[in-house]
Amino acid sequence: MTTPFNFQPLELPAELLTLRREVRAFLADASSEWTGRDVGHSWTGFNREFSLEVGRRGWIGMTWPKRYGGHERSGLERYVVVEEMLAVGAPVGAHWFGDRQSGPLLLRMGTEAQRERFLPLIAQGKAAFCIGLSEPDSGSDLASLRSRATRVDGGWRLNGRKVWTTNAHLCDVMIGLFRTGGPAETEKHKGLSQFLIDMRASGIDVRPIRDLTGEAHFNEVTFDDVFVPDDMLVGREGEGWAQASAELAFERSQPDRYMSCFPLLPPAMDKLQELRLDDRLAERRLGESIAEMVVMREMSLSILGQLEAGRSPGQEAALVKDLGNTYEQRMPELVRELIDAPARINPDDRLSDLLGFLTQTVPTFSLRGGTREILRGIIAKGLGLR
Ligand SMILES: Cc1cc2nc3c(=O)[nH]c(=O)nc-3n(C[C@H](O)[C@H](O)[C@H](O)COP(=O)(O)OP(=O)(O)OC[C@H]3O[C@@H](n4cnc5c(N)ncnc54)[C@H](O)[C@@H]3O)c2cc1C
Repeated sequence: MTTPFNFQPLELPAELLTLRREVRAFLADASSEWTGRDVGHSWTGFNREFSLEVGRRGWIGMTWPKRYGGHERSGLERYVVVEEMLAVGAPVGAHWFGDRQSGPLLLRMGTEAQRERFLPLIAQGKAAFCIGLSEPDSGSDLASLRSRATRVDGGWRLNGRKVWTTNAHLCDVMIGLFRTGGPAETEKHKGLSQFLIDMRASGIDVRPIRDLTGEAHFNEVTFDDVFVPDDMLVGREGEGWAQASAELAFERSQPDRYMSCFPLLPPAMDKLQELRLDDRLAERRLGESIAEMVVMREMSLSILGQLEAGRSPGQEAALVKDLGNTYEQRMPELVRELIDAPARINPDDRLSDLLGFLTQTVPTFSLRGGTREILRGIIAKGLGLR
């Protein structure tokens, strides 16, 4: 059968084991105080001190040129670090978005001055980035966004409103997508541009949005005549849609799309052993779950290979995200059934704390980074069904 999807296998060479051991040893030490809830935050957890330490160890901006503070290591080495961080639910949020998305965007599209200024700061864990795409009424239909950047002397004035901006209240810089051309009705994909925005600029107001867990990690951000100098336009004016879409292939294919619940597996397995040593059904269901994850890992690695080869496998990335989110969303329920956990959180019990937090947050996993329906639309297009 022919398929429009390209999933050439890519193997992680055995030499990477040394790096894996190094990262694992560091994390074993660093994670000793983390609570179940901390670990449940995984890559959205924000901890400046931790990011500074990861930066000192050379594990941010790993693949970037040394002249921008990077380390010129391979994408596969970076993959190993990412996997290890996710496996223990490390609080990487203060550097994650810069490392995964904004840094690579600046490398590809930024000016030399932008690269020299921002990339070393990201690599050291000193500059935290957030992503300003979604708006009220423009989430899935992102190209309909209305926030506007208007040309003024020496730069641009931003007006409008972004919503669901993860960690906007803690970040230093936003990469924001704004309309610079005609109205959304006539220039939907054309007139959009990306800007580097200093989150401390006057006219920016950040308001928290509380979620089901009682926390407020995402925000509504309003822009009231915020000035952005000319040299903070990223790439070409009006090309923002293509630039932001290219970023999404990175965002949608990485291990964070199927490993957000991974830290639940080891304590759940311990608990199962403690409860029923010879439960074959439980073993089988866990085995199936792990096998599924291994397949997604192969798919994700294959996409990494394509990205490294300069391709933009958007449809394959959509497939990994959709399968990965479905997988992640099932995991807490599977564990709850297998260990027959009570329907209440015991904060003194690490597994209960983690399981409770993830049960409350997994519904959002298929929204962030693009909803299930939108991804399936992209996949259907790849299959020639739409
Ligand atoms: C935890 C979390 C963190 C986030 N962080 C960020 C962030 O840092 N920066 C950022 O910019 N955004 C962020 N988002 C926003 C996220 O990307 C959007 O929520 C998402 O794109 C959906 O947009 P919406 O919420 O406006 O829903 P809507 O677009 O209103 O969609 C509502 C429902 O309708 C469906 N739907 C909409 N249009 C179609 C269609 N054409 N065909 C079929 N179904 C359709 C959707 O799939 C969805 O189920 C975050 C979201 C979450 C949950």
